[in-house]
Amino acid sequence: MSEILALFEHDRGEAAETSYQSLGFARALLAAGVGTSITAVVIGAEADGLAADLAAYGANSVVRVHHRDLTDYAPEAWGEAVAELIAARAPAAVVATGTDRGNEVLAYASAIADVAFAANVTEIRSAAEAHLELTRVRWGGSLLEQSKLIASVFVLSGTAHVFDGDPTPEAVGATAALETYDAVLSETAARTRVTDRVTLSSGITLTTAAVVVSGGRGVGSADGFAPLVDLAGLLGGAVGCSRVVTNNGWRPHSDQVGQTGKRIAPELYIACGISGAIQHWVGMMASKHVLAINTDGEANMVGKAEYAVIGDLHKILPAVSAEIRRRRS
Ligand SMILES: Cc1cc2nc3c(=O)[nH]c(=O)nc-3n(C[C@H](O)[C@H](O)[C@H](O)COP(=O)(O)OP(=O)(O)OC[C@H]3O[C@@H](n4cnc5c(N)ncnc54)[C@H](O)[C@@H]3O)c2cc1C
Repeated sequence: MSEILALFEHDRGEAAETSYQSLGFARALLAAGVGTSITAVVIGAEADGLAADLAAYGANSVVRVHHRDLTDYAPEAWGEAVAELIAARAPAAVVATGTDRGNEVLAYASAIADVAFAANVTEIRSAAEAHLELTRVRWGGSLLEQSKLIASVFVLSGTAHVFDGDPTPEAVGATAALETYDAVLSETAARTRVTDRVTLSSGITLTTAAVVVSGGRGVGSADGFAPLVDLAGLLGGAVGCSRVVTNNGWRPHSDQVGQTGKRIAPELYIACGISGAIQHWVGMMASKHVLAINTDGEANMVGKAEYAVIGDLHKILPAVSAEIRRRRS
């Protein structure tokens, strides 16, 4: 029997919506003819409690990986643990969801195991014993690539939100066999790991805010963000920005939206002085509504937005905030 190992991502024992999608991706591989069973891999004893539920998502068995250094997220150590499983179990495939962590762990695992890794797969077009025909996302979502992967073990991540993360009706009532694997890990495996956490803002964050007021080069300076911060506060939202802004040191990188920043999907994205380059657009294109404020009526962002106000953001934003205050008082 050949198994598909599906990395089940978690953060200190907490699963996210995307965690379950690695099992959906594994089910899609199984349906395409790769492997004969699914084994979920849960790393760190803190996540042991998640294991019992995974049968409902298609896992036939669950391996709980333990080691004293696996107390919190540690990309290289997680990757080394997965590489150990590849060597010990010779699986047909190893999969994860294509989140930052999923891709990071599989990058380490495939490098250590010396096998190819295809990240961000959206479709398995065909499968044969030693090769797969895949479609995958490249360049931050701006390109779909059709590729052929030839490997003895297929190491793949499935693009987040493409594969099903729901329980499978046919697995209702099923139980998964539980195993424990004590990882060996090298001395240096856990040299990069999460040791502390800082909450930058309480309550509303850029990734969860319903409204994001975002600024680009057109804001002009760090101080120029004051009207954006003011409007975001009035709307119960968060402030975002483009890469030009973080490059200039006007806002921290944690505020950056885009290919090399955060990917967000608020109800309303207000793009102030942002031209709408593709690398920015991929980070906010899932927004429900987009309002562009720009002096250039021909800017890409203006063309793509549902609403646009052509003019100077430094005049428009204070006027909008003043009007909100007037109506509320
Ligand atoms: C590999 C790679 C990764 C990248 N990743 C990212 C990323 O994650 N996020 C990102 O944002 N970019 C990213 N970039 C950079 C991206 O290509 C653009 O350079 C960047 O998004 C442009 O930022 P901007 O819109 O703020 O600036 P600009 O393109 O210079 O646009 C400024 C806009 O402000 C308008 N404006 C000027 N003054 C005013 C005013 N007073 N009022 C209103 N409007 C005004 C102008 O008309 C213009 O449209 C990446 C690039 C590369 C190559």
